[in-house]
Amino acid sequence: MMKQRTIAAPIKTIGIGLHSGCKVTLSIKPAPINSGILFVRVDTPAQSVVPATALAVCDTRLASVIQNEGVRVSTVEHLLSACAGLGLDNLIIELDGEEVPIMDGSAASFLFLMESAGIEEQNAARQFVVIKKPIEVREGDKLARLEPFFGFKLDFTIDFKHPAVDKTGQRFIVDFAEHAYRSEIGRARTFGFAHEVEALREMGLARGGSLDNAIVLDEHRILNNEELRYEDEFVRHKILDAIGDLYLVGHPIVGSYIAEKSGHALNNALLRKLLEDPSSYEIDSFSENKAPKAYSKESQPLFF
Ligand SMILES: [Zn+2]
Repeated sequence: MMKQRTIAAPIKTIGIGLHSGCKVTLSIKPAPINSGILFVRVDTPAQSVVPATALAVCDTRLASVIQNEGVRVSTVEHLLSACAGLGLDNLIIELDGEEVPIMDGSAASFLFLMESAGIEEQNAARQFVVIKKPIEVREGDKLARLEPFFGFKLDFTIDFKHPAVDKTGQRFIVDFAEHAYRSEIGRARTFGFAHEVEALREMGLARGGSLDNAIVLDEHRILNNEELRYEDEFVRHKILDAIGDLYLVGHPIVGSYIAEKSGHALNNALLRKLLEDPSSYEIDSFSENKAPKAYSKESQPLFF
């Protein structure tokens, strides 16, 4: 059977929050079977636990924020995307502040740290959310949709009317039976527009944002000196975000995801619609030789 996974040893790092600008210590620890991914705010008197679930999402304006009994954990998407990419089911993630550190704006640091700790299989069947019928949400010209598909595939289209983005691919399709998360998606950085950054700063947000952890664009061009990591890094980052947002369903998804100009809000609305309709999905486990190739131990392209 496909087994649940955690990390083999605790790891720790320090970074700053993209929005708060505050220094935060992040510790990731192994967790027992069927724990799921649990955030713990060690700076609160009760050491409050905030489980990473779709129904815990409370704010999606700038990042995906989850909460439990009034205690929040913000900007969870890049770390959860790395967890999905490494096939990790159970973790305790301790933070001494509200915001997960932004690191370099991608999932690369989280991948490196958790792989350095080692990945450990656990003695329980890994459970998957298998999509049984199409579910979609629309808002104006934005779309997010899940469809039955024996694997894990994402098809994302962005539409930024900006000369620097226009030049790059605005649509990317990734099928994890054929492509590796780490090399194709994991290094794509978050991005923002200089005029928006200024407006956000006036609101006390984006305080930690800099050219070290985001691609920043003015009206005409990219302000960072270094090259893009992928020629279509923008749309690949939107896929990185979507993988993290979708992992809040609690298990890896067997299905395909199609999005046009989607973001954290629509991704969460999609999961809520899925969970409201029990006929739209099944929770299932697989033996090694019956698992979709994207998740099979033999190829494990998602993980490498
Ligand atoms: Zn992002």
